Amino acid sequence: MSRVYNFSAGPAVLPEEVLKEAAAEMLDYKGSGMSVMEMSHRSKVFDDIIGEAEADLRDLMKIPDNYKVLFLQGGASQQFAMIPMNLMKNKVADYIVTGQWAKKAYQEAQKYGKANKIASSEDKTFSYIPDCSDLPVSEDADYVYICENNTIYGTKFKTLPNTKGKTLVADVSSCFLSEPVDVSKYGIIYGGVQKNIGPAGMVIVIIREDLITEDVLEGTPTMLTYKTHSDAKSLYNTPNCYCIYMCGKVFKWLKKQGGLEAMKEYNEKKAAILYDFLDQSRMFRGTVEKADRSLMNVPFVTGDAELDAKFVKEAKAAGFENLKGHRSVGGMRASIYNAMPIEGVQKLVEFMKKFEEENL
Ligand code: PMP
Repeated sequence: MSRVYNFSAGPAVLPEEVLKEAAAEMLDYKGSGMSVMEMSHRSKVFDDIIGEAEADLRDLMKIPDNYKVLFLQGGASQQFAMIPMNLMKNKVADYIVTGQWAKKAYQEAQKYGKANKIASSEDKTFSYIPDCSDLPVSEDADYVYICENNTIYGTKFKTLPNTKGKTLVADVSSCFLSEPVDVSKYGIIYGGVQKNIGPAGMVIVIIREDLITEDVLEGTPTMLTYKTHSDAKSLYNTPNCYCIYMCGKVFKWLKKQGGLEAMKEYNEKKAAILYDFLDQSRMFRGTVEKADRSLMNVPFVTGDAELDAKFVKEAKAAGFENLKGHRSVGGMRASIYNAMPIEGVQKLVEFMKKFEEENL
């Protein structure tokens, strides 16, 4: 067996230790005589799995008691609709558009009320985070929305926007658990788990209790109402049991690594190896404003599409997978989530150096 260094933006690399553990438990989970894929979501065994997963996540993120944790399906994209359906009491919301995913959320919200684009970085291909210290936040905005880490463009909010007292809603799909967060600053933090946490097929929503009400937009389906899932502790219908189990294992792995402070340190160290190389390279360059660089997604280009393609091809042959940039940007992108070992980034940089020498 040989594993590659997988730089995919998602689904993405998972900790090898977690995969091995899951493999060992595949046929008989803790003496139950069955796999977690085969057991009832109402069983005692599964109740322990979901309970422990939530407790470990609460511990890792220091989630205050007045927030609920929901394990839902429909991916991050379903939240683009679920958020306005549940939160737009005044039918007004403000969006900061810093990439394709924020734009999609903004466009979806327009179906349900007045969605205002109060800031954007589209003028420079989303290569920076706009100044959000004094934005024209709407008087009657039900919330202000951001995508905290922009997977495609590789930018990250280093300071949260000044929402002028309005509820902050954040999509953290591509920076989930990569560093500590102050949950109390948000009304909702949510993210698809397939980048930094587990397999595809689930979104985790951390939501302040006062935002969970029956007073949702008319016609909101039962399944798209936060209260349904909050009341049923994420077991209103059959959840993605195996995904919850895998995420639970990753939470335990993160605790073993020293928690989110330690992950931040590790992620900063990893990202610096790549960014430092890009900053002095005569062939490659990063594509975003330095101050706004993401620790998780690192886009870079040579400036020559043919050379980019040659690099991606040769990198693949050398065991570095999924380095092709998003179709809307081109070039390359290395996603270096929590589970990417530092050796992966070191070896990638060595490979880039060699490619540069051979092709300059
Ligand atoms: N938000 C962000 C920041 C993403 O990167 C993605 C997926 N690439 C999505 C939302 C959409 O996620 P999903 O496919 O789970 O709907």
